[in-house]
Amino acid sequence: MTEKAYKASCGCHNIRYCFNTAVLPGVWPVRKCTCSFCSRRTNHVHCADPNGSVSYEFSDPEKVTRYRHGTKTADFLVCTSCDSYMGAVMLTDKGRFAVLNIEHLVDDLLLPEMSSLAWESEDLGSRLARRHKTWTPVIGAA
Ligand SMILES: [Zn+2]
Ligand SMILES: [Zn+2]
Repeated sequence: MTEKAYKASCGCHNIRYCFNTAVLPGVWPVRKCTCSFCSRRTNHVHCADPNGSVSYEFSDPEKVTRYRHGTKTADFLVCTSCDSYMGAVMLTDKGRFAVLNIEHLVDDLLLPEMSSLAWESEDLGSRLARRHKTWTPVIGAA
């Protein structure tokens, strides 16, 4: 399968990412997260591909807010200028992994129906194991 690149940008172009995946958008694992951070951002759509990759670019890293909440194991990247949420990144001994908010993709894509998933009852060990299995490896800094 060939990988395709899907680009996303926040409203003011400060935070951009390029999501590389061989999975076609019609079968992307899209979902809403019910954690206290994400449920306030009702339009968010999470997606990830453990076999793909993502690279983030910041025009002005000073204007990127990194929210930590709950177990504080991931940074939720939000543009300080336009308040767009662009995904969450965690750093572990295995590297950086991200779940993307694809609400801000540049192109309109036909996406599958969304499922809501609640992780709140997970313990920390299974949360990290699940993220290692399902989140997208990050190339470079994030
Ligand atoms: Zn912005
Ligand atoms: Zn969440």
